[in-house]
Parts: sequence; C-alpha cells; structure tokens
Amino acid sequence: MAHTKFIFVTGGVTSSLGKGIISASLAKLLQSRGFKVTIQKFDPYINIDPGTLNPYEHGECYVTEDGAETDLDLGHYERFSNEPTSQANNITTGRIYLSVIEKERKGEYLGSTVQVIPHITDEIKSSVKLLGRKNQYDFVITEIGGTVGDIESLPYIEAVRQMKWEMGNDVLVIHLTLVPYLAAAGELKTKPTQHSVKMLLEQGVQPDIIVARTEHPLNSHLREKIARFCNVAPSSVIESIDAESIYDVPILMRQEKLDTEVLKLVNVPVENDLDIYNWEIFLEKLKNPKFEVEIALVGKYVELKDAYKSILESFVHAGAINEAKINIRLVHSELVESEGAEKLLNGVSGILVAPGFGERGIEGKISAVRYARENKIPFLGICLGMQSAVIEYARNVIGLKEAHSTEFNDKTNFPVIDLMEDQKKISGLGGTMRLGAYPCKIKTDSLAFNTYEVSEIRERHRHRFEFNDHYLAQFEKAGMFATGINPKENLVEIVELKDHPWFMGVQFHPEYKSTVAKPHPVFVKFVKAAITKQEGK
Ligand code: GLN
Repeated sequence: MAHTKFIFVTGGVTSSLGKGIISASLAKLLQSRGFKVTIQKFDPYINIDPGTLNPYEHGECYVTEDGAETDLDLGHYERFSNEPTSQANNITTGRIYLSVIEKERKGEYLGSTVQVIPHITDEIKSSVKLLGRKNQYDFVITEIGGTVGDIESLPYIEAVRQMKWEMGNDVLVIHLTLVPYLAAAGELKTKPTQHSVKMLLEQGVQPDIIVARTEHPLNSHLREKIARFCNVAPSSVIESIDAESIYDVPILMRQEKLDTEVLKLVNVPVENDLDIYNWEIFLEKLKNPKFEVEIALVGKYVELKDAYKSILESFVHAGAINEAKINIRLVHSELVESEGAEKLLNGVSGILVAPGFGERGIEGKISAVRYARENKIPFLGICLGMQSAVIEYARNVIGLKEAHSTEFNDKTNFPVIDLMEDQKKISGLGGTMRLGAYPCKIKTDSLAFNTYEVSEIRERHRHRFEFNDHYLAQFEKAGMFATGINPKENLVEIVELKDHPWFMGVQFHPEYKSTVAKPHPVFVKFVKAAITKQEGK
C-alpha cells in the first residue's frame, strides 16, 4: 500500500468490553487479506510500564522479544497475528511524560512553556507514527486503554482528534460500546452508546465505526437507531455478540464485515480474498476434542485468571492441536501448604507450577513439584516453577535439607538458586530484570531436544535469580540434568529428569511465544504427555 493507515480503537460505557480482542481480530482479518498490520496499546496510567505492577492490578505482565514489559493485550495481538510486538507497541502515560520531561531537561523545547497540548499530544502522535515509519505496515491499529470520559485518557483522545484532522481518511476511529439488555423491559438499550458517542463528540472526535458489544443480536431497527444517533452509516454499526471463545471473534467480525467496512472508509479497494482457512481449522479442532484431560496450574494468583493469561491461552492452542479439551484445575499454592498436595492434586494428568515473585506460597509450589515427581505425573515448571523444581530436588533427592533460593532465604547454606551475577549491583526495580529473548543451546538426547526438535532456540525471560551452577555436578549425578544452556553466559535454562515420563523446568517463559498459528512445542508436548498419562489410567 502507498502509505500507512491509522486505526484507533476507543471504548465507551464500561471497561472490559474486549477492545484488545476486537483490535486483534481486525488485525487478523486485514492480515488475512494480505495486509501488513501491527497493533499498539496506549495505557493511560502513570507507571512507565506494567513491570512494577502486581498481577492483582492489571493481570499478567507480558514480555516481548526485545524485553519490554507490557500490557497483557499485547499477548492477544501476538497470539492472533503471529507477529512479534516490541516496546513501541505499548506506551503508557508515564513513558510519554518521561520522554517529554527528559527533552525539557535537555533544553530541546528551546525555552517554550511545555504543555499537554502540544507537547504531550505531539509525543503521543509521534509514538503512533513511529510504527508507520517507512510504511513498513499498511495498518497501525492503536487501542486506547480506559474508557472515553476518563480524565486520564483525554490527551490520547485529543491526539486522535488532531491526527484525524491532519490526515483525513488515513485515520479511522472505531468506538466499542455496550448495548445492555434490560431483562425487566425485555429490551436492548442504545442510550449508553448514544451518550458515549456524545462524550467522544464533545472531545472533537466523530467515530467512523461503532462496534456494539451485546448479549443478544441487534436487529436492523436497533442498528439504524444507533446509526442515526451516532452519525454513522448503518453498515458501520457492527454487532459484537458474546462469544464462546475469544478465538471466535475474528470469524464473527468477518460475518459482520468489519474488515471490508474499514477498507471502504479508508479508501482501500477490497482486492484480495480473505484467507482464514487455518484459523477455521484451529477452531474446528478446538470445538471437537477427542480427549479430555485435567491439568493443575499451581500458583498464588489463581483466583485471578488474567494473572496467568498467556499460560491459559497456550493450553488452548496446545489443546486444539492435540484435539484435547483441557480442564485447568486452578490450585492455590498457599492451600497446598495447608491442605497438602495429595488432596489438591489427586487425579490430575499434568501439573504446571507457575512463575512468580516473593515467598508467599513457595513451599506449596515445592510440594506440588514433589507430588508430580514422585507420582510420575507430567510436570512443567516455568521460571519460579523451574526454580521450585530445583529446590525440591536438592532437598528431597540430593539431601541438602535447607536448600533454597536466596530470593527467599539469603542465609541458606545451600543457595541452589541464586541472584544472577549482573543483578547483584542493581537496586532499582523497573525494567531491571533479565528481560526478553536470549538464545539457548539444547543438548541432544534430551526431553528438551525431543520437544523442540532443534538444538538452538530463543526464548523470553523475566527473572533475577538462576540455577547456581556451583551445584550442577551434584544435580547431574543425582539425576536432574541441565539440557538447555545459555551459550554466552553459561546459565542453566532447562532442567529435566530422566526417570520420569515427562518432567521439565524452564527458566524462560514459553507461554509468551505460543500463538494460534504456532502453538508452543513445550505446551504441545506437555499436553501430549498428559493425554498419554490420562489414557493409561
Ligand atoms: N522470582 C524469580 C526470579 O526473579 C522467578 C521469576 C519468574 O517466575 N518470572 O528469578
């Protein structure tokens, strides 16, 4: 395409309507027509990135290839589009202000008064345009976090207003609202949508497309009503009905012709046919499983599913390819401490011990590993889950009774997990972990090699502690092997057991790289092992 088109997705009425999924679905459809698309998220909070937020605030922190700690919506973007994102794809108010203030300190504003308009809005606009640079993408889709009317999102909406004014129909605004169903009246109500669009209009932005989230189908009368009150064509009122799975949404959006409506409004001819065959095959498998397995996810944030978003979605991908319905048993690691592993994990065909930070629930994680190891239940430990496996093995097999990670006991006599050397001099918390993708060499004749079927991989990391290789010989002698090593720094990235049907601990996060198009091999093989276990029961 001659030049990049910019699509903004705003939200009204309430949060949690699924702007991220609508954005990712639109990206998928445009991509399936041969366009190059990227998606960006603006988060109106003051944190520089979500890396310092605890998962109770905004759910999981997603990590990109380049080591950016980002909003979990970027995970959806990657899972849907199979395209990597980067730091440039997630911008917060904190980051915008930081950059403006740094420029001010360097004197780059040449003595002028630095203000929200134009300086903050210019910074926002340049963060959008940066992705359109050199026309590397046909479409940049920018999701604006929060809800129209929030004080925090005002500068973003103002930036959209300016871009729309400056760039005409190279810019398009999609507004996602709620059309609630009032059971007492037996009716869908459009008034909240009308009000939300009025609020957007007060800020100078006329949306081009209204996506109406609803529990019941919108009839033509309702569509026309929304169109009339919101100044859009009836064809620009798109129904977004509640779906069984987020992966149905691209198909629903195709039926609603969201992609062709977008193309029409930005003056791009609809030339290529839509090729979404592989997605349909995935859905077909997802919905017609031949097996059913139960896998436990042991962590301390299990009451909040968003905290483990990428892990849960990786299971969806791996389940579909294995034609298995996966029932996740969410097991609180603190409960394992008080009630015992046997009671909480009995009967599962696989156990995943989750990543995490801090001491709360750690002994429960260690007991869950022991249960998986001793009962020969397929086991996957991710990051802190891998570290728990190492501690468990040291204590219960090697006999180093007080073994621990120095994250939890810096006086332990057996620091089998210890702070990485280059972390020792760091005091700040934001963006200072070992982050992003690093290469890892895999030893042949290992479970890891059978899983990946290659000898060099790249996986994403987010941690400060690591396997203390001072103990490596002792572990290998006792039967826990390091089969994945970072070639440059010699860090242990994968551990496994030989006398176990499937036992793997990974220091990195495979869940960040699983997509619909490419389910992650670690999850695929772990699920396969769980099915084997289940079938053998
Ligand atoms: N807390 C551990 C570390 O920093 C594990 C981190 C994680 O699970 N992401 O090394």
